[in-house]
Amino acid sequence: MTPNPEKKKLVVATTSLAGCFGCHMSFLDIDERILQLITHVEFNRSPIDDIKHINKPCDVGFVEGGCCNTENVHTLREFRKNCKILVSLGQCAITGGLPAMRNGIPMSDLFSEVYQNTNNPTLGNHLIPNDEEIPIILDRVYPCHEIVKVDAFLPGCPPNADLIWEALVRIIEGKSLDDLTYQYFKYD
Ligand code: SF4
Repeated sequence: MTPNPEKKKLVVATTSLAGCFGCHMSFLDIDERILQLITHVEFNRSPIDDIKHINKPCDVGFVEGGCCNTENVHTLREFRKNCKILVSLGQCAITGGLPAMRNGIPMSDLFSEVYQNTNNPTLGNHLIPNDEEIPIILDRVYPCHEIVKVDAFLPGCPPNADLIWEALVRIIEGKSLDDLTYQYFKYD
């Protein structure tokens, strides 16, 4: 990455929706390159700095996980509204991933199996939780691009750190993400 002290830092936001934080762990796997990143990037809302809501326009938003409930949809829309470039990070964001294995199973069967037909003593009365504080679960798990427009996709479970790094460098240098080559995607 070519240092350019005159240039404004890239403002980056990240979030995990219906994901496992594995994609964020891969982000941190860029290892010592994170020191380079600090000179080019300012993080806004992200689990990395624990800022809870986007508080200024961002250049790029990385979203891990698809949408399984209303809170996920709200967060995703906040990212779309405030991020010039929105990136689906990892298979869960791109396809729904592992959480989407519930798609196709009737919701009533899912709730019965988890809360009612269970021997888990901590669930006590076997009632299905119902409180206005709890986000409403969606009928299925949606990939991000079915909810909002997504500009780029970084596949993998998780995407490897080199792919995330290369994407960041390209965005910082004002290049397109369309022609990321096979060497960054390969898993062999
Ligand atoms: Fe976790 Fe894989 Fe989904 Fe990323 S893509 S959130 S690593 S399960």
